[in-house]
Amino acid sequence: MALMKKILIPLALLIVIFSSWYVIKATRRPNIILMIGDGMGIAQIYAGLTGNHGSLALTQFKVIGFSKTNSGNNYTTDSGAGGTAIAIGKKTFNGAIGVGPDSLPSTSVLEYAEGIGYATGLVATSSITDATPASFISHEARRYDLNNIALDFLNTDIDVFIGGGRNDFTKREDSLYLVNDLRAKGYVVLFSMDSIRNINSGKLAGLTAEMHNPTIAEGRGNMLVEATETAIRILDNNKKGFFLMVEGSHIDKEAHSKDTLGVINEMIDFDKAIAKVLEFAKKDGNTLVIVTADHETGGMSIPRGDFETGEIDAEFSRTAGHTGVMVPVFAYGPGAEKFQGFQENTDLFYKMLSSLRIKVE
Ligand code: MG
Ligand code: ZN
Repeated sequence: MALMKKILIPLALLIVIFSSWYVIKATRRPNIILMIGDGMGIAQIYAGLTGNHGSLALTQFKVIGFSKTNSGNNYTTDSGAGGTAIAIGKKTFNGAIGVGPDSLPSTSVLEYAEGIGYATGLVATSSITDATPASFISHEARRYDLNNIALDFLNTDIDVFIGGGRNDFTKREDSLYLVNDLRAKGYVVLFSMDSIRNINSGKLAGLTAEMHNPTIAEGRGNMLVEATETAIRILDNNKKGFFLMVEGSHIDKEAHSKDTLGVINEMIDFDKAIAKVLEFAKKDGNTLVIVTADHETGGMSIPRGDFETGEIDAEFSRTAGHTGVMVPVFAYGPGAEKFQGFQENTDLFYKMLSSLRIKVE
């Protein structure tokens, strides 16, 4: 009897504690980590897969769909309309940032997430004011109004942003020095990964390059992985949850340049960030991960390759511009099933909002 008490009572207690923890966890809204490979079509992924001798973290995803990327005014989207479609759920004109076809601002998924008390973040290898990250936080009719886009960062309560684009905050046409305004809003403002990677909490503005960060070939190093890990570490302090967008910006750039090795390097780099995100999501158990692209770049095809040597002989379209073909969507975690099948890029917005249990018209 004494032995029974010794074993059964603690065991019963454990079961009660564990099951209530499980219920609380299951009813919580999920974190969302949205990862956008700019210009990342099937061929870019396959270039990375071949260059990495047949393995990528991306191959772990079981839920896979397609996204139709045409913009509001063009069969072939730019990164402004492409990012904006995912960010605000509206097909708009090329060059638009966070505004609909009427040029009016529309609330982004990041801003909706802020509205329910989420911590929010943006990470990009490009300038943080560039079209893809800007679509989630800024509302401008012209994507190259970088000074205005930088100002828009001060209109939100975003917790973490890490990328290039320092000049848009420091060397501005209006001579404002936005670092002061950011500090006044409670941000730690840092200019190098050496200092950024040590931050664990609070609000962080990490501006690691004057404009875009360099490519992998030019020496960007592990910036994307470290920035992603840092952002997750900081955002995960918020018990209500977080929304983070991570962009592998340079896949697009290298495909525009018809640089095959560049595409491979950037794809593998983006995949390393995906691996870290998946690792976190698996451990956390309540994080929805979506990996997709805004459009394909380069009309890339791979008629010849070798998994053993990791070499490919790729071809690009004459112009190496963006193409209109659909791009893949990979999803993992609670609610991932929603993202399978064929969908409009704008559907991604509505599906993320439904995961956050936010109703929009
Ligand atoms: Mg981009
Ligand atoms: Zn492009």
